[in-house]
Amino acid sequence: MLISIVVPCYNEQAVLEHFHARLDDHLATAPDTYEVLFVDDGSTDGTLAVLRRLAERDVRVRYLSFSRNFGKEAAMLAGLRGAAGDAIVVMDADLQHPPELLVRMVELHRQGYDQVLAKRTRSGDGLLRTATARLYYRLVNRFMDVEIVDGVGDFRLLSRRAVDAVLSLTESNRFSKGLFAWIGFPSTTFGYENAIRKHGTSKWDLSRLVDYGVNGVISFNTRPLRTALHLGLTLVLSAVLYALWIIVSVLVRGVDTPGYATLLTVTTALAGVHMVMIAVVGEYVGRIFHEVKRRPHYVLAEAQAPTAPEPDAATAPVPSVAAPTSTR
Ligand code: UDP
Ligand code: MG
Repeated sequence: MLISIVVPCYNEQAVLEHFHARLDDHLATAPDTYEVLFVDDGSTDGTLAVLRRLAERDVRVRYLSFSRNFGKEAAMLAGLRGAAGDAIVVMDADLQHPPELLVRMVELHRQGYDQVLAKRTRSGDGLLRTATARLYYRLVNRFMDVEIVDGVGDFRLLSRRAVDAVLSLTESNRFSKGLFAWIGFPSTTFGYENAIRKHGTSKWDLSRLVDYGVNGVISFNTRPLRTALHLGLTLVLSAVLYALWIIVSVLVRGVDTPGYATLLTVTTALAGVHMVMIAVVGEYVGRIFHEVKRRPHYVLAEAQAPTAPEPDAATAPVPSVAAPTSTR
């Protein structure tokens, strides 16, 4: 069996040699054949130079390089497209995903699982990050048709048919956690102790995480629109009840004029609710705009790997992955 390892790298110069060495140690004793496909996500440090060196030294190593930073989702997509394996493992370059777990994943895959997910503990994470992550997953699962689990990241093994299923989803706004859950197939999860990043720095600051979170929920499905509808209906219902209450109290106690504060509060609150709902709708319109442009997900600058063409989703011609065309 050929196992492909897809590794998105963004400014990982400091850790790539360590990563490769540790992977190499591990693969030396592994029973299967491996290939490693690094995807340089437009790094601005020496990442690409390191990748070229590694590819020269090790025949199992191939790489792709983007013309600029397109984000981890795009890098994973490029990797999944370029990988030739019967099973594909996506892992981070920063050694937070221990290569020692590979054998276990392949073993579970052999037992018939199409997706093998590694679930990390949150030890070593800050309290704030742990708490926000918890909250996020609770919220997200309320807004999504599929369930995603806290601690299950992108470190997972996918069978060939699972990868093909993921690649058949051509949306531009990609939220892999959701997509992987959406395709289904028999899956299994196993836990591992979180490792702290030893070299380089995390590419996710708070604003990127918030962006990622909002993006995930909104681009994955239309549940937030449903929530807006429910909120609107609740407000209408309470307005009707309030009106009835006023009518009854006028009939019972006669007219009384005070109510300025109530009026103002209600007006302001309703205006706010409207704005939020328009914004939610606007987000969707924006996303539709984004999708209909059908831009490629990334632009390749250099490839030391055969690249699969962008699959044709609809009747419209799709620009090839490598062609730096300016599509609008
Ligand atoms: N990454 C990427 N493009 C980006 C940001 C990150 O390819 O725009 C890669 C990065 O090189 C690493 C993985 O995604 O291999 C996870 O990133 P990081 O370790 O910074 O995230 P964290 O583990 O802190 O969530
Ligand atoms: Mg990391």
